[in-house]
Amino acid sequence: MHTITHHIAGAAVEATSNRYSDVYDPNTGRVQARVALASEAEVEHAIAVAKAAQPVWAAMNPQRRARVLFEFKRILDDRMDELARLLSSEHGKVLADSRGDILRGLEVIEFACGIPHLLKGEYSAAAGTGIDVYSMRQPLGIVAGITPFNFPAMIPLWMMGPAIASGNAFILKPSERAPSVPVKLAQWFEEAGLPAGVLNVVHGDKLAVDALIDHPDVKAISFVGSSDIAQSVYARASAKGKRVQAMGGAKNHGIVLPDADLDQTVLDIIGAAYGSAGERCMALPVVVPVGAKTAEALRERLITAIDGLRVGVSTDTEAQYGPVVSAAHKARINSYIAMGVEEGAELVVDGRGFTLQGHEDGFFVGPTLFDHVRPEMKSYQDEIFGPVLQMVRAETLDEAMAYPSQHAYGNGVAIFTRNGQAARAFAHSVEVGMVGINVPIPVPVAYHSFGGWKRSGFGDLNQYGMDGVRFYTKTKTVTQRWPTEGELFDQSLVIPRL
Ligand code: NAD
Repeated sequence: MHTITHHIAGAAVEATSNRYSDVYDPNTGRVQARVALASEAEVEHAIAVAKAAQPVWAAMNPQRRARVLFEFKRILDDRMDELARLLSSEHGKVLADSRGDILRGLEVIEFACGIPHLLKGEYSAAAGTGIDVYSMRQPLGIVAGITPFNFPAMIPLWMMGPAIASGNAFILKPSERAPSVPVKLAQWFEEAGLPAGVLNVVHGDKLAVDALIDHPDVKAISFVGSSDIAQSVYARASAKGKRVQAMGGAKNHGIVLPDADLDQTVLDIIGAAYGSAGERCMALPVVVPVGAKTAEALRERLITAIDGLRVGVSTDTEAQYGPVVSAAHKARINSYIAMGVEEGAELVVDGRGFTLQGHEDGFFVGPTLFDHVRPEMKSYQDEIFGPVLQMVRAETLDEAMAYPSQHAYGNGVAIFTRNGQAARAFAHSVEVGMVGINVPIPVPVAYHSFGGWKRSGFGDLNQYGMDGVRFYTKTKTVTQRWPTEGELFDQSLVIPRL
């Protein structure tokens, strides 16, 4: 069994902490590797390496930095299938979803290739007599990212793209459950020309995260994961005076109006609820039909569509989704299904007990459907993060809109309708950060930005887009006036070259 270790200063680093975590193949349920969990000393070593490398990288002009990103993009394009296979082997998502995971991250790298333009400041000539004012964006120095298991390529790339392009050194602490892809990304970035030490990957748990947050040389923390941890990371890093963005969990609703194109809507909901085994922060685990007629028609079609779903191993190209990430997560999902039953929701399709022949120990959960779910139920309020779809019936659009608006999470929401006025009013008023109109998973493109509201996001700036550039840079504003008389240049001055 091999050990996955840290990537620091351009090389694999022998772990010294003697603490490890098992990495599973979710298809078989077997341990396939172990990953080192860093000690404080190992985190400090990565920070020292980053500190030495960052000034040289920041001094390189932005166009030259962008060329490294262009080359990195080319490598990722060429090796997409290799990376997708590695991703699926630790995460369990099917290969098509792994490719999607990489592609959505790659789009952020493409956006960050425009860094010379994105870093341009503002200039005001003659703001006063003989006075000009200009601003520039400068890198923060060393910044760190902490990422979840469910998008091992996309989310690290959301952070790496703008952080590195802006001239920072970046330390990534990826999920210990899917640690191999981030190491590959670091190796390929260096193959593309990134100087060693600018991008370091340190594996670990809370100890490593706290060491990064507490270290005075780390200037910003970007976190994506579950809400309780996001909130505690946000509180701890803010208390240290750091810039922090912390994205949390989700419980996204799909509102279905009576005039929706029901065939397309069912296809969309099935893909968004069960795709990637529901392990997406932009999944649609709640559907809210408006009116009894819509609810009955939707329910009937959902049951038929679920019947046709194929669950398989991640290399099965016919499968719609694969196993969930761990045995513990499978047990947690099953316990939420039991909770829903106890709370009085109607279990229409039960995914517990699903097994795949030849893969009996794999972490599979069959597609599950609940009807007559009520907002006071804990199984509705909590994020389940599995292939479980809950139907909450509403009588009016106002009632339907109140469910996502009053929910503790506010990541994404979708509405399915042909009525432009209704959709427009909904998009304007709903208390959720990302809205889809006949689009089930409204993850914004790379030149917009990604961020939820309420318990789905702590901090002011979103991930990627211009917010990403703002997050990883600080603005300096210069107000200048030049003397008009006297000595113009003092020969004794030593002026540094920029
Ligand atoms: P998680 O919160 O368990 O872990 C996220 C990261 O935090 C990992 O790197 C983990 O090692 C680290 N961590 C774990 N315990 C910690 C602690 N006590 N202190 C500090 N760090 C700690 O999340 P996960 O299970 O890996 O990912 C799934 C969650 O992430 C879901 O809740 C999902 O909705 C959320 N998510 C949110 C977004 C978003 O953009 N809003 C995107 C993807 C996933």
